[in-house]
Amino acid sequence: MRIVKRIMDSMPTSDGAGVKLKRVIGRPGLDQIDPFLMLDEFYSDNPNDYIAGFPNHPHRGFETLTYMIEGKMRHEDNHGGNGLLETGGAQYMTAGRGVIHSEMPEQTDGLMRGLQLWINLPADKKMTEPRYQDLQSADLPVYEKDGARVKLVSGSIDGHTSPALSAHFEPLYLDVTMQKGQMTSFTPDDDMDGFIYVLDGKIKAGPKDSARQSVQAGKMAELQGDGDLTIESKADTSRFVIIMGKPIKEPIAKYGPFVMNTRQQIIEAVQDYEAGKF
Ligand code: FE
Repeated sequence: MRIVKRIMDSMPTSDGAGVKLKRVIGRPGLDQIDPFLMLDEFYSDNPNDYIAGFPNHPHRGFETLTYMIEGKMRHEDNHGGNGLLETGGAQYMTAGRGVIHSEMPEQTDGLMRGLQLWINLPADKKMTEPRYQDLQSADLPVYEKDGARVKLVSGSIDGHTSPALSAHFEPLYLDVTMQKGQMTSFTPDDDMDGFIYVLDGKIKAGPKDSARQSVQAGKMAELQGDGDLTIESKADTSRFVIIMGKPIKEPIAKYGPFVMNTRQQIIEAVQDYEAGKF
């Protein structure tokens, strides 16, 4: 059975040109949950917190999966990619050998809320061709399970498959909404590790027949073990994501937006970027 290994708070920070964020993974005390290098939640109805966006910046060596809970954000990159990310939609980007892109709000007021996940690539895929995929909300499967509403952002489970494509391995990424008293179980593949991040409300998570642990909004529960994961809503409405992937188990050399295996590869990434090779 899958149990909660530990519960951690998210950390307030800012990134890009001053976008206020909650950093869940990829911060002091939690470098990664292999293969996930970073998870940020941006969530504000104050345009001053998001309007500056993420102007042009590079990436190399991994993938990003951005899920828009509410709002509009435009992506543009130096390989000709351009897309509008809207409420309920997602974007899967393989940075591979190098991409320079911007992620800018396409709204001047109202709520903007979403999650950006960084997914590592193994050594033999780090220098793959860059690509990206826009996934509209209607492209992503939605189903009901024991009364819970489940949206499948990426991966396969319960007979449903998301069209999201990775250059390596699509993570399992579920957005689940449950009402008080509802309880359901998921059975991710045994070779996947990951976590739950609670967006709203409060849940209890863990094995079906023993004590489950409470996890509140803004907190992350790292999972351990195999088999079933049972979740119960303890608030009137609880919303959370379950994110799981295959651990890569390779050394990590990380410098800002470059994530490679060795320090030498980081030096090369900086040189290639400065030489205009992205
Ligand atoms: Fe980026």
